[in-house]
Amino acid sequence: MSDYDVIVVGAGNAACAAAVSARQSGAKRVLILEKAPVELRGGNTHYSGAAFRIAFNSAEDLRPLVPDAEKHEPGFFENVVPYPADQFWADLRKVTENRTDPRLAAIMIDNSYSTVRWMKEVGIQMEPAVMLGAIKYGGKTKFLSGTVIRAVDEGVGLSRMWFDIAARHGVEIRYETRATHLLQGKSGAVTGVQIHGPQGLEDLSARAVVLGCGSFESNPEWRARYLGRPWDIAKVRGTSFNTGDGLRMAFEVGAVSHGQYSGLHSTPIDAAAPPFGDRKLTDKTNRLTYPFSVMVNNRGLRFADEGEDINMLTYAKMGQIVLSQPGGVGYQLFDSKVISLLEPRYATAKPYQADTLEALIRQLPIDQNQALATLTEYHAALKGGTFDPLVKDGLRTQGLAIDKTNWAQPLDTPPFYAYPVTGGVTFTFGGVLVSDDAQVMDVAYRPIGGLYACGEAVGGLFHYNYPGGSGLVSGAVFGRIAGRSAARG
Ligand SMILES: Cc1cc2nc3c(=O)[nH]c(=O)nc-3n(C[C@H](O)[C@H](O)[C@H](O)COP(=O)(O)OP(=O)(O)OC[C@H]3O[C@@H](n4cnc5c(N)ncnc54)[C@H](O)[C@@H]3O)c2cc1C
Repeated sequence: MSDYDVIVVGAGNAACAAAVSARQSGAKRVLILEKAPVELRGGNTHYSGAAFRIAFNSAEDLRPLVPDAEKHEPGFFENVVPYPADQFWADLRKVTENRTDPRLAAIMIDNSYSTVRWMKEVGIQMEPAVMLGAIKYGGKTKFLSGTVIRAVDEGVGLSRMWFDIAARHGVEIRYETRATHLLQGKSGAVTGVQIHGPQGLEDLSARAVVLGCGSFESNPEWRARYLGRPWDIAKVRGTSFNTGDGLRMAFEVGAVSHGQYSGLHSTPIDAAAPPFGDRKLTDKTNRLTYPFSVMVNNRGLRFADEGEDINMLTYAKMGQIVLSQPGGVGYQLFDSKVISLLEPRYATAKPYQADTLEALIRQLPIDQNQALATLTEYHAALKGGTFDPLVKDGLRTQGLAIDKTNWAQPLDTPPFYAYPVTGGVTFTFGGVLVSDDAQVMDVAYRPIGGLYACGEAVGGLFHYNYPGGSGLVSGAVFGRIAGRSAARG
C-alpha cells in the first residue's frame, strides 16, 4: 500500500484547492508538502489581493458569494455590471494577443463561477473587491467588470482560510519539506516523491502526485535564462520559494513545456520595495493608478500610453515596460485634481511633493530639462474634453510619439506629486501542458500516469499580459480538477 493516496506539492491556493478536492473525491490520506517554514507558508497566495475574476450573468449571481455585500457597500448589487463568459473571453484574448490556449481558457472561464461557489461552500469568505476592483468618483462606486469580489482579509485571509479548511478536511501538512524528485515505476507512471525535510531525504509513495508549487519567478537564474535581462535583478512581489522546482521535477520525468517562457506578470511597484514580498505589506507596494498620471523615465521621456485601458487590463504588462526603462525606474506624476482617485495602497509611499510642476521635477534624480520639455509637449498635445475615470473617456493627446489615449488631462492643480516606481515580478507564464483532467502531458503528448498540475505550474493561459484576478481563479479551477482526478486515479 502507498504511504498516501495523494501528495500535493505546494501550499498555495491551487494546492490547497487540490488537496481539499481530493479529500472530497474519496482520497483518504492526502499530504501537502510545503517547502516554506510555517511562518512563511502559503506561497504567492498569501501576498495576493485575493481578487477573483469570474464570469457571471447577473449581479444576483454574486449574492450567494457575498450575501452581506450591501452592509459595507450599499448599492453593490445595483452598481455591479454583469460579466458574461463572452466578455471574459474577449478580455483574455485581447490582453494575451489571442495567444491563450483556447482549451485551457475554456476550462478556466467555464468553471470560474462554479469553482468560486465551491470555494465559498468549503469556507472561503468573500466580500466586494473595493480596493482592487472599484473606483470611487463623484459619489459613485464603479465595480470594474469581472473582478468584483475577493476573499475577506485579502491574500492573508485567503491563505489562512485554506489552511483551516484543509485541516477540517483531514489533510496532513509537512512544513519545511520540499519535494526534490518524482519517483517513477517501471511503466513510467509517477509513484511518489523524494522529499527533503528536517530529517533529511525520504521517499514517500503515493497513488498520485499533484504539482501546485508555483512557477519560477523567485529563481534569478531561470529568470535570466528564460526572460533575459534585466529580469535576474528584478524585485519579486511575493514568495521567495517558487524557484521552478515543480517544472524541473516534471521535466525530469518527461513532461512537455507549454506556454510563454519569455512572458511574465509584472506590475509597477514602489521603487523602494524590498527584494521579495513583505509578509505584512503584501501587495501594498503596487502603484496602479498610473492611467490618471503622466509617467516619465530617468531620461525625462514618456514611455507608455498610461491610458490605454483600465488598469486591470494593462497593469500586468506595465511592470515590464517600467523595468525596461533606463535604471529600471519610472515616475508617476499626479496633480491634486486626481489625487483622491489614487488607490489606497499609495498610502504606503512617501511621494515627492511640490507646489509647482517645475519644483516637483527639479527634485527628481532624472534629466529635469528633458522632463520639463516633455511635459510642455504633453500639455500642447491635449485635445480637451470631459474627464471621467469611470469609463474610457477618450480624453487624449494627439501627435505625440506615444499618445495618452484616455484620461489625458493637464497637470495644473497644485500640489503636485511624483511616485517612483519599478517593475516587480509576480509570476512567470511558462509551465507544463495539462489535459482536461489536469494530468501532466509528456513530450509525446500522452498523459503521465499519476502526475497532475495546477496553478502557476500550468502553462498556456497567459501571454504578454493578464486580466487581473485570473491567477487565483485558474489555480482554484485546475486545483479542484487535479484533486478530483488524482483521487479517482
Ligand atoms: C503581490 C501579489 C498580488 C496578487 N494579487 C492577485 C489577485 O488579487 N488576484 C489573483 O487572481 N492573483 C493575484 N496574484 C497572483 C496569485 O497570487 C497567484 O497566481 C497564485 O497565488 C498562484 O497560486 P499557486 O497555488 O499556483 O502558487 P503559490 O500560491 O505561489 O503557492 C506555491 C507553493 O509551492 C510551494 N513550493 C514551491 N516549491 C516547492 C517544493 N519543491 N516543495 C514543496 N513546496 C514547494 C511554495 O512554498 C508555496 O507554498 C498576486 C500575486 C502577488 C505576488
